[in-house]
Amino acid sequence: MAEKKYVYTFGGDKTEGEGAMKNLLGGKGANLAEMAKIGLPVPPGFTVTTECCVDYFKNGNKLPAGVEKQVTTALKHIEKAMGMKFGDPKNPLLVSCRSGARSSMPGMMETVLNVGLSSKTIPGLIAKTKNERFVYDAYRRLIMMYSDVVMEKAEGIEPAEGKAIRRQLDAMLDELKEKKGYKSDTDLTVADLKSLCEKFKKQIKKTLGREFPDDSMAQLWGGIGAVLKSWNGKKAVAYRRIEGIPDDWGTAVNVQSMVFGNMGDTSATGVAFTRDPATGDNKFYGEWLINAQGEDVVAGTRTPNPLNEATSNEQNKHLKSMEKLYPSIYKQLCGVRETLEKHYHDMLDIEFTIQEKKLFMLQCRVGKRTGTAALNMAMDMLKEKLIDEKEAVMRVSPTQLDELLHPILDPKAEKKQTVITKGLPAGPGGAVGRIVFNSTEAVAAAKKGEAVIMVREETNPEDVEGMRAATGILTARGGMTSHAALVCRGWGKCCIVGAGAIAVDEVKGVLKIGGKTYTSKDYLSLNGSRGWVYAGKVATMDSSENPKLKNFMKLVDKFRKLQVRTNADTAADAEVARKFGAEGIGLFRTEHMFYGKNSEKPLFCLRKMILSNTKEERVAALKELEKYVKSDIKATLTAMKGLPVTIRLLDPPLHEFVPSEPAKRKELADALGIKVSEIAKRAEALHETNPMMGHRGVRLGITYPEVSEMQMRAILEAALEVGSVPEIMVPVTCDPREIKFQKAILERVAAEVAKKKKVAKIEYKVGTMIEIPRAAILADEMAKEAEFFSFGTNDLTQMTFGFSRDDIGGFLPEYLDQKIIDADPFQTIDTVGVGRLIEIAVKGGRSVRKNLKVGICGEQGGEGKSVAFCHKMGLNYVSCSPFRVPIARLAAAQAAIAEGRK
Ligand code: PEP
Ligand code: MG
Repeated sequence: MAEKKYVYTFGGDKTEGEGAMKNLLGGKGANLAEMAKIGLPVPPGFTVTTECCVDYFKNGNKLPAGVEKQVTTALKHIEKAMGMKFGDPKNPLLVSCRSGARSSMPGMMETVLNVGLSSKTIPGLIAKTKNERFVYDAYRRLIMMYSDVVMEKAEGIEPAEGKAIRRQLDAMLDELKEKKGYKSDTDLTVADLKSLCEKFKKQIKKTLGREFPDDSMAQLWGGIGAVLKSWNGKKAVAYRRIEGIPDDWGTAVNVQSMVFGNMGDTSATGVAFTRDPATGDNKFYGEWLINAQGEDVVAGTRTPNPLNEATSNEQNKHLKSMEKLYPSIYKQLCGVRETLEKHYHDMLDIEFTIQEKKLFMLQCRVGKRTGTAALNMAMDMLKEKLIDEKEAVMRVSPTQLDELLHPILDPKAEKKQTVITKGLPAGPGGAVGRIVFNSTEAVAAAKKGEAVIMVREETNPEDVEGMRAATGILTARGGMTSHAALVCRGWGKCCIVGAGAIAVDEVKGVLKIGGKTYTSKDYLSLNGSRGWVYAGKVATMDSSENPKLKNFMKLVDKFRKLQVRTNADTAADAEVARKFGAEGIGLFRTEHMFYGKNSEKPLFCLRKMILSNTKEERVAALKELEKYVKSDIKATLTAMKGLPVTIRLLDPPLHEFVPSEPAKRKELADALGIKVSEIAKRAEALHETNPMMGHRGVRLGITYPEVSEMQMRAILEAALEVGSVPEIMVPVTCDPREIKFQKAILERVAAEVAKKKKVAKIEYKVGTMIEIPRAAILADEMAKEAEFFSFGTNDLTQMTFGFSRDDIGGFLPEYLDQKIIDADPFQTIDTVGVGRLIEIAVKGGRSVRKNLKVGICGEQGGEGKSVAFCHKMGLNYVSCSPFRVPIARLAAAQAAIAEGRK
C-alpha cells in the first residue's frame, strides 16, 4: 500500500496545499498555503496533517509510518528556501511548531517557538546575528515554552496549584526583574539572560526529573509530539465540548521557519483584524509590540501599542502607533489587508512579524466577531459589493443574533453610577453578578442558576469552562486580542480585560479597586461594550431597535421558505412576537390563563370543574369558566390582527390545579356546597402515579365532552366576533378516533353558534398535535381526520426516548460526557430518532392529504439546528417563544440558502 501523504510544504518555491484544504491541513495550515499562493510574504514551512494526528492516537500515541521521512524531506525544503540548516553550528535554522485544527480553537492547544537552539547552535546564531542578547532571550523563551508544553503538559503531569513549571520559571524571571529594578523584559541584560537560562534548566531537572534536551532534532520531535497530544489536553477537550467540535477531527502541526520580532527596535510582532471585531467598523484594528515575540501580544503581559491613530484607546493612546513610527511598513500592511479582504471576502484576523523592518505574515483566518460586528460587517460588505445578499444572510449566526437581542446595562441607571475602574471592552453587552475568583466557583454558581462575574488576574485558556459559565469576565491584564478576549467575543459574552488598576488575589479571594476591597460576597456590573466597571447591581435592558438589524431581517425574509410563528398565550406576548416578525401563533396553550396575573377567578372556576363529582356540577362550573376563556382568546386574536392562530384544547396536569392550602380548600368546599374532607377525598381520587401519561389532553375531552364543548364554543364565538378563522388543535392524541370524537362535538357546537349568531356557517380548521410515537406512525390515518399537524416535540421527545422532560437533568450531563447522546434532545431535535418519526409522520400525513399543513411547537422550534431540520423535512412553519422568533427566521433563511448551494 502506498504511504499516506502526511506532510505538505508551503512558501519558498513549493506550496502543496491551499485554502480549501482546511479539513486536512487545519485552518492555519490551509491559510498559510493560501497566503503563500497569492504572493504574500510567508516564512517557508510545512504542515503535518490532521490525519496524522488521528492516526497518531489510533496508533497508541505513536507517529504513523512515513511521517519521519516526510518531515525530514520537508525540513530540507525550508532549509533550501531560507539558505540555512537545522541544527547547523554555523548557520542554524530555527523553527516554530504550532497547532491548527479545522476550526479555530484560540489558545486551547500548544505552540513551541525557537525550536533548534542548543549549545551547538547558539554560538553560530550569535556570530550571524551579532546579537547575543537576542539569542539568549530566544533561548530562555524556548526553555520556558518547551518545559511547559512538551515536558509537563504533554506528559500529562498535573502540578499542584502554583507549582506548574511555567509558573515557577515566570516567578524566577519576575524575581530577577524586581531585584534589579527592571520594568520590562527588555531591560534584561545578556548576563541576566544567560544566568537565568542556566537556573531554568536546573529548576526543570529538579521539578520534572529530566534534562531540557540539548539537541535540535530531539526538540523538533518533542514539539511535534506535544502539539499532537495537546489535541487531547484538558482545555482543548473542554472547549470542544462547548463548541460542539468533534473529537475525531485532530489538529495539524505547522512547522515554520522562525522570523524574529525580538531582534531589536526595528523588529516587532503584532496581531490585527482587517475591521474592528467588536463594532464591525471598517477600520484596520490591531496591536503590536516592538522587540517582542508573538506570545507577548496574546499573553497580555505587556500593554501593546495601537496599530494606528484611529483605533487607539484609553490603555494604549500614550504608546506610539505603527502608522506613526513605521509608516512604510504600515502602508505595506494596509496593502496586505486589502489583498486579503478582496481574496477572502471577509474580515480576517492576522498575525505578523517584522524582522529588521521586513514584514512577514504568520497567520490569517476569518476573524471571530461580536454579534454587533457580524451584523454591521455583513451589511457594510454587501454595500461594498464584497459579498452578495445570500452571503450577507449567512454571515450572522443565530447565536450572534441572539446576542444582539441580549441585555445591556440600562443607560439611565448606568449614568447614576460611578465607574470604579476601566478596562478594555473585549466582549459586548452588560453583565451583573456576584464576584467569583476561579473557574470552579463560576461553574458551581452557574449550575445553581446564579449570575457571577469571574474576576481573574489574567485569563488563561484553562479557565475556559468558568468563562463559559460566568455571566461576565473581568481581568487585570490582557489586551483586546488576548485569548480571553477572543474566546469571549466568539461567545458574545460580556468581558472586560486589561483593567490595570485592579489588584486581584485569587487565592485569598480579594479584589482591590481604588482603596476599596471586594470579596465573593459583593456584586459587580460590567459594561462590556465600553470597558466600564461598577460596584453593585446596575439595572439591565434590551438592546434591540437597531436600524441595521431591521434591514438585515428584511433580507433574511427574502430567502426563507419556512414560516415562523410564535407560542403565545397572552395578548402581551402576541404583541411582542408580532414585533419580532411572528407570522401567526402556532400554539396558544389555554391552560396558561390559570397561572400568574389575573388568574385567581378563572382558576377558581377550573378548580370547581376539576373537583366536580357530577356532570351537573361540572357543567355549572364550565359555564362560569367560559366567559374567561372566551375573553382571553379574544384578546389574543385581536392582538394578532387576522394572522392565523392555533388554539389548543385544554391539556392541564389536573392534580397540579388542586389547592393544597386549607383556606383555599375551604373556599372551594363552600362554593361546591360540600365538606372540606370531601375535597381531600376527591383530590385523592385525581392522584396519578404517572401524570405525564395520565388523564390529560384529549383524554379529558373524551371522558368529559362538556369540557371540550365549552372551549369550542368560547373559541368559535371569540373568533367570529374578531373576524378570524381559528385553528383548533387537539392535544396528546394517539388514534384518529379521538379526533373524530372531538370533531363530532365541534360540528354540533359550530351549528349551535351559527344559529345563535345568525350566520350561515362558521369557518374553522381542526388539527392535532403529534406528541405520541403512535400518532406519528399512524399519521396517514390521523391526517384523514386532521387538517393540520403540529409536532409537540417536548412530549414526542419524552415519549420517544422515555426520558422525563422534567427530570432529565439528573443524568443528562453523564450522557453527554459519555457521548451516549450528542445534545440535549429537549433543546435540539434528535434528528435520527424523533426526527425519523417526524419524517414518517410528514410523509404519511401528506400521502392522504396533499396540502396538510405541518408545523412544530415544541421548544426545539426556536433552536437553529432544529429549524434547519424542519426546513429539510418540508414543514410549513416553526413556532417558538417570542424572543426566539428572529433567530428562527434567520435559521430558516440560512437553511434555505445552504440547500440552494448544495
Ligand atoms: C409539546 O409537547 O411539545 C408541546 C408543545 O406541548 P406542551 O409543552 O404544552 O406539553
Ligand atoms: Mg405536549
